[in-house]
Amino acid sequence: LYNMVQDLKGNIRVYCRIRPAFGTETRSTVDHIGDDGSLVVVDPLKPSKEVRKIFNFNQVFGPTSTQDEVYKETQPLIRSVMDGYNVCIFAYGQTGSGKTHTMCGPSGESSKDMGINYLALNDLFQLSCTRKDIVDYDIQVQMVEIYNEQLEIRSCTSNGGLSLPDAKMYVVKSSADVLSLMKLGELNRFVSSTAMNIQSSRSHSVLTVHVNGKDTSGSILRSCLHLVDLAGSERVDKSEVTGDRLKEAQHINKSLSCLGDVITALAQKNSHIPYRNSKLTQLLQDSLGGHAKTLMFAHVSPEADSYGETISTLKFAQRVSTV
Ligand code: ADP
Ligand code: MG
Repeated sequence: LYNMVQDLKGNIRVYCRIRPAFGTETRSTVDHIGDDGSLVVVDPLKPSKEVRKIFNFNQVFGPTSTQDEVYKETQPLIRSVMDGYNVCIFAYGQTGSGKTHTMCGPSGESSKDMGINYLALNDLFQLSCTRKDIVDYDIQVQMVEIYNEQLEIRSCTSNGGLSLPDAKMYVVKSSADVLSLMKLGELNRFVSSTAMNIQSSRSHSVLTVHVNGKDTSGSILRSCLHLVDLAGSERVDKSEVTGDRLKEAQHINKSLSCLGDVITALAQKNSHIPYRNSKLTQLLQDSLGGHAKTLMFAHVSPEADSYGETISTLKFAQRVSTV
């Protein structure tokens, strides 16, 4: 089964993805990408100093890697959801580094270059068709956003899990359902990027796929796949922002560092895991740790002026990685 191979790779893994440079870029911060998951970066503005920094991840996807190549390395993890495993996939990085590209694909009408959200849902649906004589699957999807730590989460007393009273559940019964759902998500994103302006990159958006399966013997499996497009990780200059922007930035910093703390604590097998310190980790509590599998994509921009943010993203990613 899919999880057997996956188990060998551990429960927490970190991939790095570098997006292509825009326009006529002179020098990239990326010095070398190794087949072994190593990445060497350099500050193009201070080349004379020859300060090369080396990072190690499970895998590094360079600027020419395609959506399909990225999905191929994610697919076994996603498929393990059909065997009852909970999986969380996070897209981390500064605004403009390619998080939404990886998760959703390029915005617009075309269904070319679709991202992990679509490919995963479609894959799970296909798998449920293939196995329909052995397991009767039911697939439902929920979409929520967490902005400024606002999200109504209520504890469900029956099983201790969390339920989202405000988030609608969508039942997925066909590939066409998957597509129309993605279009709806697109619409939601469009609304949030115009009406709420900057807020779109200032919130965490979570697409949750709930899978329920019943096999011929009547035994039930229940699992979740969380696909998370995180808020931009860029630091804001406290001397320049005030009011709402400052509040947003503080909420984002807090929730991202909290996510980092939780994953690090899990990687180190600590006895106390600080789930309760943010809404995001509270929401995902059942799917982080235990037998659950976590994948973080650390996104970086190759441009020289992003060097500082690139280093801070890579450091964060290295911290949560067990490589
Ligand atoms: P983020 O969600 O991190 O703010 P986006 O995913 O919106 O960043 O990416 C910023 C821009 O770069 C978008 O126009 C996107 O289409 C483009 N882009 C990002 N990653 C890639 C990639 N791997 N290949 C081609 N274009 C990309
Ligand atoms: Mg985005």
